[in-house]
Amino acid sequence: MLALRASHAFDGSRFVPGGATVLVDGARIVGVEPGDFPVPDGCEVTSYDGTLLPGLVDAHVHLVSDGGVGSLERVGSMAAEDIDAAITRSLAAQAARGVTTVRDLGDRDFRTLAFRDRRAPGQPRIVAAGPPITVPDGHCHFLGCTAATPDELRQAVADHHDRGVDVIKVMASGGFLTPGTDMFGAQYEVDVLRTVVDAAHERGLEVLAHAHSVPGIEAAVAAGVDGIEHFTGFCEQGSVLTDDLLDRVAAAGIAVDPTMGNDFSLLGTLPPPPPQVAQLMEKLGLDMMQFFAQRYTDTGRMREHGVRVVPGVDAGAMPLKAHGNAWLAVTDLVKCGYPVDEALAAGTSGAADACGVGDVTGRLAVGYDADLLVVAGDLASDPDALGRPQTVLVRGHRVGALAP
Ligand SMILES: [Zn+2]
Repeated sequence: MLALRASHAFDGSRFVPGGATVLVDGARIVGVEPGDFPVPDGCEVTSYDGTLLPGLVDAHVHLVSDGGVGSLERVGSMAAEDIDAAITRSLAAQAARGVTTVRDLGDRDFRTLAFRDRRAPGQPRIVAAGPPITVPDGHCHFLGCTAATPDELRQAVADHHDRGVDVIKVMASGGFLTPGTDMFGAQYEVDVLRTVVDAAHERGLEVLAHAHSVPGIEAAVAAGVDGIEHFTGFCEQGSVLTDDLLDRVAAAGIAVDPTMGNDFSLLGTLPPPPPQVAQLMEKLGLDMMQFFAQRYTDTGRMREHGVRVVPGVDAGAMPLKAHGNAWLAVTDLVKCGYPVDEALAAGTSGAADACGVGDVTGRLAVGYDADLLVVAGDLASDPDALGRPQTVLVRGHRVGALAP
């Protein structure tokens, strides 16, 4: 048995006055006690002047992709062993930054599932969608799963279920990364998209829709999806999320992941955006920083309208979205107007619940997996301390080689 003691603690829902002592036996939490708790004889205790909290959850990653320019597209032509090497590196980077669960929303050939099932020591838990379902030549077609008709879509969902995925990801609009896709329209008509939702729900699988455009979002809402990724609100007039739309998404209980967590410290060091992104921004009359400023405003509005927001990064999709940026997606929520405890809850217990693993991780609670993070500082007064990990445990296994 070992114990982690910290002067500050957050339990997945709220700050714990006086800090906490968490007792770990093997892979499990066996005690959550006050900061001054006298540990039993023979229990190794490590004390920290910092904040102890559950490991973070990144609700949207692409483990197959390292975030380099064009890296996700290159996966379409990579050999299996190179894909596996990329997955291994991505998982290590996630763990080093305190991420103990990732939801992978787009791989190739279902290769993340073997990692999920192998559960190597120190490896973050994986919730996996397999290859995203998209129209021929549509967004992320290069990941290998295209389907256009209701019959093809039902077959795609059945195949994903047979392979053992945890969730279905479908592309309801075009995307930044795929030249030639429609950023303003919908990839599927509502009735067609509904066949995906029905086929998945029949098999007990939730459906997450990628949607940047208003028509894509509207189709996803009408089709009855469980979650929407990005939720940008592109239309010909710019980026517009109306109050009415936010109210309907809130009423439907749809979880929205605004895919924030961009590392803006890298701006200025990066190559220019791909031509299709530059053209899109020009058409919208926005520069990149104006675009991101609007994302902050809109995500704050989602909270005001009661939309359930789940922070994910889309890690690996592009250079600003490194594996391990989940802490930035949480501190971004604070910048959007969330109280610190609410933002931390969203990135731990809330995201774990949304990923279907809220009964085993995301909380400091007896019986839960010992997925633990200690960061240097008092998160209540210094949210950016979330980016300063001191120690990380994944199912009780201490992760080495933390990033500086
Ligand atoms: Zn993605």
